[in-house]
Amino acid sequence: MLHDGQAAWVVDPGDADPVLQALAAHQLRLAGILVTHHHPDHTAGVAALRAATGAQVYGPRLEKMPEPLVRVGQDDRVDVLGMPFQVIEVPGHTAGHIAYYCAAVDDAPVLFCGDTLFSGGCGRLFEGTPVQMLASLEKLAALPGSTRVCCTHEYTLSNLRFALAVEPGNPALVAYQQRCQLLRASDQATLPSTIAMERAINPFLRSGEAEIVASALGFDPALCAQQGVFATLRTWKNQF
Ligand SMILES: [Zn+2]
Repeated sequence: MLHDGQAAWVVDPGDADPVLQALAAHQLRLAGILVTHHHPDHTAGVAALRAATGAQVYGPRLEKMPEPLVRVGQDDRVDVLGMPFQVIEVPGHTAGHIAYYCAAVDDAPVLFCGDTLFSGGCGRLFEGTPVQMLASLEKLAALPGSTRVCCTHEYTLSNLRFALAVEPGNPALVAYQQRCQLLRASDQATLPSTIAMERAINPFLRSGEAEIVASALGFDPALCAQQGVFATLRTWKNQF
């Protein structure tokens, strides 16, 4: 949720109740809803929130969505509390998945990337190809390093176990896992991450690194030769 003390926006409300509770607790009016893709855990609260608040809904131009909504695509702009959020199309997890990026929210950029980029990992390829997903992740990795990465699931520790199996010799990754373990042990979120951190530790943004190439070849040399390192990592993670 983003709010200015009066109006609030939420991203990917899979459930209306916690949003309504937060609105009531902080005496906020829901002005808008941003949706990244069609999966129910991102959309199931949309209809109830629209009915309760009249909030305007924005979502991907290509996906089956709870109507009515404003459909947006690459480089469209959504004004959120006076801040311009740019739409970035990031197909791979789903065919029409989009992300929302703003260059300055309280002096630092913010990215809402749904199920495309997670801390230490990426979404499964339900509707897209590895080539599409890699291109989408490269778009996000090119954003400023200070960009806060607001993904929609706290999968960090599980992702980092896989990342360390792939790249055990990465000291930044080892240190980040320790930091995230401490956060989770005290029931705190590891999110948001940053683009700079993900470039340093996320194997799906690092598939050109020598240690990662060697690990992918070790997992399945034939698959790696045929489909490349990124596709091999994604297959490996699905079985990990
Ligand atoms: Zn999803």
